[in-house]
Amino acid sequence: MTKSQEQFWAKKVAREAIEFATKHNHEIVTVRSGASPSGPKHIGNMNDQVRGEFIRKSIENYGSKARLVLTSDDMDPLRTIPARLQENESKWVKTDENILKILEPEVGKPVSKVLDPFGCHNSYAEHFTDLMMEGLKKISVYPELYYVSKLYKEGKYDWFIAETIRKKDAVREVLKKYQQNIPDDYIALVPVCENCGKLTTKVTGVDLEKMEVEYECTGRVLHGKYEIKGCGHKGKVNIRKGKLPWRLEWVADWKIFNTDAEPFGKEHFEGSWKSGKELAKRIYKFDPPIPLVYEFFLVDGEKMSSRLGNVYTIQDLLKIVEPEVVRYMYVKKPLVQRDIAVKEVYKLVDEFDEIERLAYEGRGERAEEAKNYYWYCVGELKDRRPYRLPYRLAATIVQFYPPEVALERLTKSGIVPDNLSDEERQKTLTRLKLAKQWVEEFSDRKLRIAEANKEHYIKDEKIIRAFNYVYETYKNKEMNGEELQALFYEAARKFELNPSEFFKQGYLIFLGEEHGPRLGNFLASLDKDYVLKVMANIKLKK
Ligand SMILES: [Zn+2]
Ligand SMILES: [Zn+2]
Repeated sequence: MTKSQEQFWAKKVAREAIEFATKHNHEIVTVRSGASPSGPKHIGNMNDQVRGEFIRKSIENYGSKARLVLTSDDMDPLRTIPARLQENESKWVKTDENILKILEPEVGKPVSKVLDPFGCHNSYAEHFTDLMMEGLKKISVYPELYYVSKLYKEGKYDWFIAETIRKKDAVREVLKKYQQNIPDDYIALVPVCENCGKLTTKVTGVDLEKMEVEYECTGRVLHGKYEIKGCGHKGKVNIRKGKLPWRLEWVADWKIFNTDAEPFGKEHFEGSWKSGKELAKRIYKFDPPIPLVYEFFLVDGEKMSSRLGNVYTIQDLLKIVEPEVVRYMYVKKPLVQRDIAVKEVYKLVDEFDEIERLAYEGRGERAEEAKNYYWYCVGELKDRRPYRLPYRLAATIVQFYPPEVALERLTKSGIVPDNLSDEERQKTLTRLKLAKQWVEEFSDRKLRIAEANKEHYIKDEKIIRAFNYVYETYKNKEMNGEELQALFYEAARKFELNPSEFFKQGYLIFLGEEHGPRLGNFLASLDKDYVLKVMANIKLKK
């Protein structure tokens, strides 16, 4: 591994985390992450876990024991109802009236107490935690899962809550530096109202001897827009029945799990992270973990939001690309904003294929970088580079034939080598299936293959005559891929064309881009009538 690769972000954080753990006598180096199961978690949310996993993997590779922790922050209140919900791994549903009828009265309750609108889990929180865990498992990320509601019940937060109450004035002073509208009598604990079950209360008195707090259900404004009315109930409960505000719960989680490193999104950097650091050091007297800050993902140029309906989960992406390609999205520099173009997903796949090629066959610094990326996405290199069918080509041929038949034809025409291992064959077939799904569900219409009956206009008359020559010859003769390829060269020579210019026109017509596989072999794997029909429709642009 070269020096520059040692500077790779996951390795850098890993080394700092190991040092941190040693200093604090932590036996296992812990990378922690949290997720609020407030609805379907999109690929941007999963940065915490996947990047966390890359850090964990690096720590282990340095010879230290490591774990990735994921807390399901299921004491968070249900703040809004997403416009679409994921019923199961492959099914999204619009939040209709029936679902709203179930969920609307639940807004303000901890998500662990909200009903699962689909009825398959104990709670809303469990439903979405399960889906998240399933998605992570499919890309080989296996965090240790903890439900925060359970941790409260077990008393894991007791010390932290008691300390928060004991030092309530100091806590308030710190929070006031980072948050607006903190009242002068603010106590950073929210008991769940025993009457309405919501996180709409205000602490009005504390009894630390008995570890109890008095509260009144006064209501709460969520997200600055949804006002939930309090029921007016007054009560007295054990501190365990209270929830720490998220900013403090986060700090408590660092302590509870002996956290050595934690990834989080840039949006937390100015606020929660800075207040958290100060709270940890000044109030609770421990060191905050090593941070990894990352930029969020865009999808097709826009920020993902349930309102826009452009939320993609890991499972959604796995319908169209392989797990290693999904992992690849998370391997690059964390502070560079990534735009995931689902409509042009072949670009992402091409990028991954190129990394693989460089890892196996490249030289120099770029190859070292590729090898490093590849280790996080796939693992060690094997004896030889595995065969990959270019995605775009796969997407073209599956528009004519079912994946199995397409593979046969591609093999027969010499595009796919006939000496593939069983695994390579299986992976090629998988890619054909993924590409088919993409064509059907996600691709732009303009990216689909040439329509047979559409006319194609070209300015150069010589090119028209050359295509015409290929057309007439191919029409009257059975030809295999090699023969068809030779025919294209012959036509180029005959009409004094630069072959690469001629082939480029062929790619533009048949694939919509300037490059592609061996054209003759490719066209021989397609339906002959179709190929002839397209060629017959190449016309001179006047
Ligand atoms: Zn469920
Ligand atoms: Zn209430």
